[in-house]
Amino acid sequence: MQRNRSTKIIATLGPASSDLETIAGLHAAGADLFRLNFSHGDHADHLARLRAIREVEKSVGMPIGVMADMQGPKIRVGTIGGDGGGVGIDLVEGSTYSFDLQDTPGDDKRAPLPHPEVFAALKVGMDLLIDDGKLRLTVQKLGRDRAECTVITGGRLTDRKGVNLPQALLPMGAMTAKDQKDLRFALDAGVDWVALSFVQRPDDIAEARRLIAGRAAVMAKIEKPAALHQIDEIIEMSDAIMVARGDLGVELPVEEVPALQKDLVRRARRAGKPVVVATQMLESMISSPVPTRAEVSDVAAAVYDGADAVMLSGETASGQFPLAAVEVMDRVAAKVERDPSYHKIMDAEHADPEATSADAITAAARQVAETISASAIVTYTTSGSTALRAARERPPVPTLVLTPSLITARRLAVAWGLSCVHSADASGFTDMVDRACRVAADRGIASSGDRLVITAGVPFGTPGATNTLRIAWVP
Ligand code: PEP
Repeated sequence: MQRNRSTKIIATLGPASSDLETIAGLHAAGADLFRLNFSHGDHADHLARLRAIREVEKSVGMPIGVMADMQGPKIRVGTIGGDGGGVGIDLVEGSTYSFDLQDTPGDDKRAPLPHPEVFAALKVGMDLLIDDGKLRLTVQKLGRDRAECTVITGGRLTDRKGVNLPQALLPMGAMTAKDQKDLRFALDAGVDWVALSFVQRPDDIAEARRLIAGRAAVMAKIEKPAALHQIDEIIEMSDAIMVARGDLGVELPVEEVPALQKDLVRRARRAGKPVVVATQMLESMISSPVPTRAEVSDVAAAVYDGADAVMLSGETASGQFPLAAVEVMDRVAAKVERDPSYHKIMDAEHADPEATSADAITAAARQVAETISASAIVTYTTSGSTALRAARERPPVPTLVLTPSLITARRLAVAWGLSCVHSADASGFTDMVDRACRVAADRGIASSGDRLVITAGVPFGTPGATNTLRIAWVP
């Protein structure tokens, strides 16, 4: 199966997309990678979905990536009560309302906020945003275990609503006790990517990497303003980033998110790290078979930005039209990529090669492919690093990746333009050319008489040694 687009699609699985048939349908419709969201569902649910994905992978013969998205240190208010039925309490604009560490249900004066670290990090004048920013309060007075606030935007406060503290740098890592349990499970189950929520600093990635110990690639979800202060270091420490616009748009004024999205995509592309644009891309398709025109423009904008992947959340996890949502994304991405201005935009944002053999060879491969109108670039890689450098070039022809590592092939499912095939390493030059031509022809990327540009490392089978470029005719 060969996709007719370079931008990848990630579909979140959930109650609406747990059975084998639906997962197979989502893949056929265009999902290249699946996300298991550990904020919802239990381990048995996730394991059943992962097994179904692996079955689909086997039947289609195409590596599929799986991402475990950790819940992270999500802060929530405790129980509110309110007339005994979880109805909640109305917070009135201009009134005073407090949060504390007491273990008693909230009332019209106060509510429990069972996170001591929040009180350690808050300062007078900081905002607390509750329920995706629908309620806003500003801290007026602070004690060690109590914060007295003024209600700036009122509304109903109910049990366990999420709290965002955009101005605070919280003295907590990105992995809670629940995350560590989920992580052990996800790694044992064999996921390819671990996404870390609410990353604040490079050390959060370092801590996660220690626990993950190379068993999965690490994606940093950028959703906290604090992360932006050291964003280049966070990108450097991560294998990929996600522009997690849901929480980002609560922690920052929403009007700042579009420029930030462009900036994050640009930085990640320059670093050669995959970047995912996520959240509310086709939100209305949770309950409608067709998207709004604005949503289509949003998906298109992420593709024009040069994102490696666009992501669906509720649309495929709990929506009524999961397949249709993937089909729309697939069509929009494919159409944008056929706009002549798309490759001009990719070129304008093109980053120069760095002073390494792999970059020199991949940059040359792109240039040669354009000069001789080759049908594809074929890259032999073991760790996947050369393939990522090839994706960084954003070449105008497909990039076929041949790798002896199934793990690498699955991880690269997220990266722009890479079609991965799990295949033994070339045993010599003749085998390198024969194998590349055969696979390219099988995948319908090239036919007899076409030319391919092949990159590899010689001696063959030595990871990290890309040093060879060869032009081949498909027999
Ligand atoms: C987001 O906030 O945009 C996001 C992707 O994270 P989550 O869905 O876990 O809130």
